[in-house]
Amino acid sequence: MAKQYDVIVIGAGPAGMTAALYASRAELSVLMLDRGIYGGQMNNTAEIENYPGFKSVLGPDLSKKMYDGSTQFGAEYGYGTVTGIDIDGDKRIVRTEDGDYEAPSVIIGSGSEYKKLGVPGEQEYSGKGVSYCAVCDGAFFKGEDVVVVGGGDSAIEEATYLSNIVKHVTVIHRRDQLRAQKILQKRAFDKDNIDFVWNTNVTEIKGDNQKVTGVEVKNNKTGETSSIKASGVFIYVGILPMTDAFKNLGITDESGWIDTDDEMKTKIPGIFAIGDVRKKHLRQITTAVGDGGTAGQGVFNYVEGLK
Ligand code: FAD
Repeated sequence: MAKQYDVIVIGAGPAGMTAALYASRAELSVLMLDRGIYGGQMNNTAEIENYPGFKSVLGPDLSKKMYDGSTQFGAEYGYGTVTGIDIDGDKRIVRTEDGDYEAPSVIIGSGSEYKKLGVPGEQEYSGKGVSYCAVCDGAFFKGEDVVVVGGGDSAIEEATYLSNIVKHVTVIHRRDQLRAQKILQKRAFDKDNIDFVWNTNVTEIKGDNQKVTGVEVKNNKTGETSSIKASGVFIYVGILPMTDAFKNLGITDESGWIDTDDEMKTKIPGIFAIGDVRKKHLRQITTAVGDGGTAGQGVFNYVEGLK
């Protein structure tokens, strides 16, 4: 028989951990499931400067602090890759690769993942110079030349981070201006060792069969092609919701983001969604935590209402 809880939280990122904290403090039995280490994307972030209470905090340190807080009232943390949710009356059955769990309510906080560029060489050289995480891999490129692809917050934040480690950063962006917040743009523009290549697409990642040696690029205004030498290629071209396992529920929009109301309720009673996986404007730790608190309290009301 499936193990039973009052609420199952899918994902132990900042959203999921906060939901688990609120629900367990309200004396619900809570299982928080994650297919990796707690902390979610915070583990891929070096310095966080916009989380209240800290002038600056390392992502893995904030993850540990949140984890300790989220489990202090008895919420369990379990390893598991969730493959789907089935509805059986008031029961919500959470399927994982290792077994099923049952609860009247489920909170989905499964976050998002990096979009791939989809060019030749990307997959072949992934982990051999192609990276989606400067914090994880930047140190491997000390004193070398790297390329950052993208123009949003993550791209520019990580380009600035890399510029303190590597010799030179070339930011390649398909538009003629950045989308990143102005403060992040200013920091990047102020760096002597960051250059920008505008209106340009990466068409191929080149290597010597062992590791990356550079990228082929094409100017999308002039059609001109050229090569840029680099031993690292850091790709930040957007994010995708982690919702494949929930598509059958009909709670996602055409791009896969989950629709909720402002109480984090989806259209299925007892199923809530929080954090980056939601259709929302600002995907940050603060907003993930806010969603988690709202849903953690909301499930208490929902579960009480079933009694
Ligand atoms: P996530 O943190 O993505 O956590 C989701 C969790 O769900 C993951 O642990 C994942 O393993 C798990 N999961 C997914 N699918 C399944 C499944 N099927 N089964 C089980 N588990 C599953 N925000 C800031 O506020 N400040 C910053 O400075 C900042 N810098 C950033 C830098 C980078 C490089 C990146 C990538 C993000 C940054 N962010 C920053 C954004 C912030 O990290 C996210 O907004 C936040 O982590 C979202 O939290 P979440 O809990 O919704 O999702």
